[in-house]
Amino acid sequence: MEKTKGELLKEQLFLKSENATNLLSDAELQKVQDFCEPYKKFMDDAKIENEAVAVTVELLEKKGYRPFEAGKKYMPGEKFYSSNRGRALIFGTMGSRPIEQGVKILASHIDSPRLDLKQRPLYESEELALLKTHYYGGVRKYQWVARPLALHGDVYKKDGSVVHVTIGEDENDPVFMVSDLLPHLSKDQNERKLKDGIKGEELNVVIGSQMFKDDKASEKVKLNILNILFEKYGIIEGDFLSAELTMVPAGKSKDVGLDRSLVGAYGHDDRVCAYTSLMAELDYTEENPEWTSVVVFADKEEVGSDSNTGLHSSFLKYFIADLAAAFNVPARTVLSNSKCLSADVSAAFDPTFPEVFERRNSSFLNYGVCIVKYTGSGGKNGTNDCYAKFAGDVRRVMDDAGVIWQTGELGKVDQGGGGTVAKFISALNVDVIDIGVPVMAMHSPFEIVAKTDVYMTYRAFYEFLKAKL
Ligand code: MN
Ligand code: MN
Repeated sequence: MEKTKGELLKEQLFLKSENATNLLSDAELQKVQDFCEPYKKFMDDAKIENEAVAVTVELLEKKGYRPFEAGKKYMPGEKFYSSNRGRALIFGTMGSRPIEQGVKILASHIDSPRLDLKQRPLYESEELALLKTHYYGGVRKYQWVARPLALHGDVYKKDGSVVHVTIGEDENDPVFMVSDLLPHLSKDQNERKLKDGIKGEELNVVIGSQMFKDDKASEKVKLNILNILFEKYGIIEGDFLSAELTMVPAGKSKDVGLDRSLVGAYGHDDRVCAYTSLMAELDYTEENPEWTSVVVFADKEEVGSDSNTGLHSSFLKYFIADLAAAFNVPARTVLSNSKCLSADVSAAFDPTFPEVFERRNSSFLNYGVCIVKYTGSGGKNGTNDCYAKFAGDVRRVMDDAGVIWQTGELGKVDQGGGGTVAKFISALNVDVIDIGVPVMAMHSPFEIVAKTDVYMTYRAFYEFLKAKL
């Protein structure tokens, strides 16, 4: 049957979008599945930022990356990494293009919402030992009760030594939990608004109940817990001040769905973009790269990018200055000619809650990597609104390479909003656009992503690094 004039015109003029699981061949879908297996392992090994840095550095070392030396004149093909306090990471490969013509930046974040321990967390109440927490990032508090939690983090002891703690991930490890009321006694709690269903000061973690056997001491349950921590890690109560200890959901990432098309895990936001940018960098630099690649894993995005390991600080700017110094090029020249993908997740349309989304401008699971021209809340407050020419360049690169992509805004204009690291990088006069994987149940203890989108995001990052821009 011949197509009508209208059908042909529609093909020519309309923006097409199609479900990637329908579009991709069986062989390509197998590739997608294979790509996500090591991704799940990465998610399990790197639940917090310092673990993500450690796991990544180990891999980079194997691939020939070496600690960055400020002032060194890097030759094309040389690979470097620079850890910021073990909490953030910059790595990349020197390209053949002169540094004054700019670099390509892929910037994601490796911190995720969670329950941090307070500075004096441990207490005993009614012969139970508990930990006070201070939630980190955008947490819906009611989601964190009555589920297994694991303790992760670093403790810096008085003598300067550091202990890394992970309890609750091994099959034989104990786990922890925040209690909630039984339905039989929750009459008053049921009347609370959902946002107060569990309050911040009710996020107390049960950590023990057994007494230290002694006739005279008081707080014997707390004492017993401190004794266990001391015997195992040499930690004393004062060490909590110089610690970054946090409670995260215990357990491994999993395929979701009978068709295994989705991955459920804690912290896809934003380690899914960190992992895909890492894979893109490793594959891109196998040949002789033209553009210098600079991959950034930032910390503290979930709390507004503040602190010296977040991108609101100067660590990226200083790094570029140190990289360019050997060529007698000012950092501002490099940055002003640089291009950046702010690699962060978008909110996938959720059919159970359609009312918060504006369907035509939402991202959907399995529709590919999501390009977000602007972020912010209300009237684009706190936005990075990408220069349209650069948005066009990125779109062309994706189309030419056959990367499946879509666009998306967080939700309805007046419903809320949010930002990413994009605005801090664009503040350095870099061209920046947001792009990443759509996530459902974002910031919950078990977020889901579609495997085709993870794969397309990897491809998008790879093609961006490779592209002549
Ligand atoms: Mn994010
Ligand atoms: Mn987030």
